[in-house]
Amino acid sequence: MTTIHIGLDDIDSINGGCTTHFAVQIAWEIKRKGVKFIDYLNLVRLNPSVPWKTRGNGAVAIRIEANNIQLAEVWEMIVSKLEEYAGEFKDAKNQPSVVLHEGEIPYEYAWFANKALHDIIPLDLALRLLNKHSETRYYNIRGKRGVIGALAAIGYTMVNTDYTYELIAYRAREYWGKPRLVDSESIRVMDELYGKDMILNYDYEANRPLITPRGPDPVLLGLRGEDPWVLIEAFNILKISEPVEYMAIFRTNQHTDAHLFEVNSICDIRPYMCVKVSGVVNKKPKRSVGGHVFFELCDGKCCIDVAVYEPTKTFRDIIEELEKGDVVEVMGCVRPPSSLHGLTINLEKIRIVKLAEIYEYFNPKCPLCGSTMESMGKGKGFRCRKCKYRDPHAKKIPVIKERYIKPGIYQPPRSVFKHVMKPIERFGKEKRSFPGILVKDFIVKPI
Ligand SMILES: [Zn+2]
Repeated sequence: MTTIHIGLDDIDSINGGCTTHFAVQIAWEIKRKGVKFIDYLNLVRLNPSVPWKTRGNGAVAIRIEANNIQLAEVWEMIVSKLEEYAGEFKDAKNQPSVVLHEGEIPYEYAWFANKALHDIIPLDLALRLLNKHSETRYYNIRGKRGVIGALAAIGYTMVNTDYTYELIAYRAREYWGKPRLVDSESIRVMDELYGKDMILNYDYEANRPLITPRGPDPVLLGLRGEDPWVLIEAFNILKISEPVEYMAIFRTNQHTDAHLFEVNSICDIRPYMCVKVSGVVNKKPKRSVGGHVFFELCDGKCCIDVAVYEPTKTFRDIIEELEKGDVVEVMGCVRPPSSLHGLTINLEKIRIVKLAEIYEYFNPKCPLCGSTMESMGKGKGFRCRKCKYRDPHAKKIPVIKERYIKPGIYQPPRSVFKHVMKPIERFGKEKRSFPGILVKDFIVKPI
């Protein structure tokens, strides 16, 4: 018996294909062969700012224990299913890929996976690693780009890093593209009962469920949370009026901020990286035409622009309260410079560390009659218009400006959350070890 790791990526297509959906079908076939799983299906969200990413930039790993005969069968089955699936959901832009690794995961793969979370990976690097390890094989269609994500999924084991779970239910083929028949009242009931152990079920500001995606893909719904047993209970509460073809539980880096790489200096930031970096607000934030808010962040050596976009709504109001001199830690992914702006961090979250003391200067009051005096010119003192009192030595009076924000962490509304972004509500719930016992039937096919 050997441990086998199977990585899949870039199987999403514009006309309904989806990497997780393909992975679930593969996993179901593996299960039918009686092969043992050593983990839930892993859904690994890679760098969300990669320009050529497919929707959520999610890759999948399946981890099993198999003998040589089973291994040969599984590989043959995956390759033929991948051909079939890629033929059915043709999309010239995707490059469906599978990577299979036998045995212990090399340290280099873990390093590679970490890099793929927050940086851009050249295909050459992935191919060099793959060719170096004879225990690893791969297969791809149209192009090799998908092996990057597939290899990263294998390398990102979430054994001692944070993770969450997602239960995903898939629709029967004849329902794809039609409205999803999940009763929204039952979603609110579910959220009331289990919401504290779940993540982003419902957007109460927009009065809209977040568990059902839109679009033609085969996903009926996804329930995200901290505990797989809770997700199954929550799923059973939902009133669903269409057949569910597959249901599977994924262990995932969603909502863990795994993509944020802590850099020591703003000087180390390059385009498309996702970072966490500290600095001082160098200019009072400004709202531009279109409603986006921008400010400049500096750390003594380098500066970078930070952008907060219109869809983040009230998040912008907090950012606009920042002042020059405030110490903050910003989190987000980096846009390359353009003709209109420099290298820019798209702000996902901010920690206000220390507020600067901001002084506002007011004209002094007249000591005789109490009315506000007026300046007689720069450095020439003040006079009272009412009683004609003059004081050539009077100066403006500094008053500390009242601040309407406090140190702390701030985030945008739920509607703009990306898969990998960690909501503040998850702070303190981070997991650091592999789950003890797996839910026995974490993949089922009810029809
Ligand atoms: Zn006066």
